[in-house]
Formats: sequence, structure tokens, C-alpha cells
Amino acid sequence: MSAATVDAALAGARGAGLDRLDAQLLLGAVLGRDRSWLIAHGDDAMPADRAADFDALVARRLAGEPVAYLLGRKDFHGLALQVSPAVLVPRPDTETLVDWALELLGGELAGTGAPQVLDLGTGSGAIALAIKHRCPRADLSAVDTSPDALAVAAGNASALGLPLALLRGHWWAPVAGRRFDLVVSNPPYIAGDDHHLDALRHEPRLALTPGGDGLDSLREIIAGASAHLRDGSWLLLEHGHDQAREVQALLAAAGLCDVATRRDLGGHERCTGGRWRQATR
Ligand code: GLN
Repeated sequence: MSAATVDAALAGARGAGLDRLDAQLLLGAVLGRDRSWLIAHGDDAMPADRAADFDALVARRLAGEPVAYLLGRKDFHGLALQVSPAVLVPRPDTETLVDWALELLGGELAGTGAPQVLDLGTGSGAIALAIKHRCPRADLSAVDTSPDALAVAAGNASALGLPLALLRGHWWAPVAGRRFDLVVSNPPYIAGDDHHLDALRHEPRLALTPGGDGLDSLREIIAGASAHLRDGSWLLLEHGHDQAREVQALLAAAGLCDVATRRDLGGHERCTGGRWRQATR
């Protein structure tokens, strides 16, 4: 397919099955232009030497690769993040977790000089960086088991000028002996036999599912909470839309109080958190 104009290239991609926004984002990337330029320059000639690049991206998108990987970037909570197939693509649903963390930091943790905040399973660094961006006084540590993911997070931290302490290891292992004022995590939580995993096959399986019923990583994180939370501090967890009851029960059984659940923008129960109270133990 070799289109004569910008509009014809977009129409060709849509005819092949791409939606309008994806077609614009991919053509914009190939031409080094934004969407408003494409709209204003529909009649411009499509540069012949760029057509093959565009066709290749269209074919990859049609085969299921996330646009974020094709562009190498994704916006999250107002930050432009670099992403690669080494990390989960940050989702708008996860902004619920960030907003909750920021509320605590600006509210009951406001008096804590430099609150110690930990992000378990940071991937691209999205959650930790969004918190650091909006709450510069917080001291952010971020753990991931994948060195490739940590490299992406390190690239984002340096590109955005937002310092993070990046630690490699399995959940709490790299922070043995340390306690935090706030711990957040978006761990893998999809059940091992969930058919949605097929549509997510381009993303790291490790970041999506722990296998089994999907709750094992949440169980492991919650089991470590009492050893790593300060008195009065919070653990906030993202989970699947049908896992709120189980996560609430796990938090309560681990001795956390004030357990609450928040919905994402789509109205799904997406985050559950609880507070650790040393005094009542
Ligand atoms: N929210 C993601 C999805 O369902 C899954 C992310 C995760 O497992 N942490 O597409």
C-alpha cells in the first residue's frame, strides 16, 4: 500500500482495521508530527520514504502489539514515560492508586518531613515517579525483580529528573529490616487461566499473572506488611475488579485496620488499602 497523501495513508490504515486514534498516533510518530499537524495537513504528500515504516507499524498494531510499545512511550498521571516490552504498559486505572497515595501524603502524612514511600513491582517506575513528581518531599524506593524493567525505570527517573532508589529483588527482600510510611503496589493479579492473558501476550507475563487464582503476589506482599510498615502507615494495593473482598479479608487477617476499597475511572473496585497500627497489636 503506498498512499499519495497523509489523509490517504490514514484512510488506508483505517481500512486495514486500525482505529482512528491509533492510526494518527503511529503516522505522527513516523512523520515526527503531532495529531493536530496531521489534521491540518491531510492533503500534504505522504513522504514516499516513510510509507514502509508506517505500514510496518500498522501491521504490528494489527497483530496486537500495544501502541505504547510501538511509540516507546505512554503518558501516565501527567508524565511522559518511556516504555518497552520489558514493562507493563501503565494503565489509567492505576492513577486511582497514585491519587490515593497523594491524598495520604498531603493529608495525614503531611507532617512527616520526608515520608519513606515504597513501590513494589515498579516496572516502568510509573507509580513511584508520579508520586515523586507530585510530592517532591517524599523519599521514593522502588523494587522490581526484573533488571530490564529496572533499566526502564532508571531511564524514566533520569529523563524526568525525579530521583528514585531502585532496588532489585523479590517483593520485600531488598528492603529487609526497613520500615516505610507508605507502601504501594500494582502486582501481577490476573488468574493463570484467565483468557484475557491472550490479548495481553505482548506484555511481560511476570507482570500480569502469578498463576493460580491470581492472588499469590498480593498474599505475599500482605504477609510482609507488618515487618515493613511504621505505626499508622498505609499499604495500598491494586487488584482485579473481582478481588476486592479477598484483598480486604487478607489485609484484615494480617492485622491491618481501616481497610477500604476505591474504584477506578471505569467504576471497578480497583484498589484496596489498610493501615498498620503497632499500638493495638
Ligand atoms: N490491569 C491490568 C489488566 O488487566 C493487569 C495489571 C496487573 O496484573 N497488575 O490489563
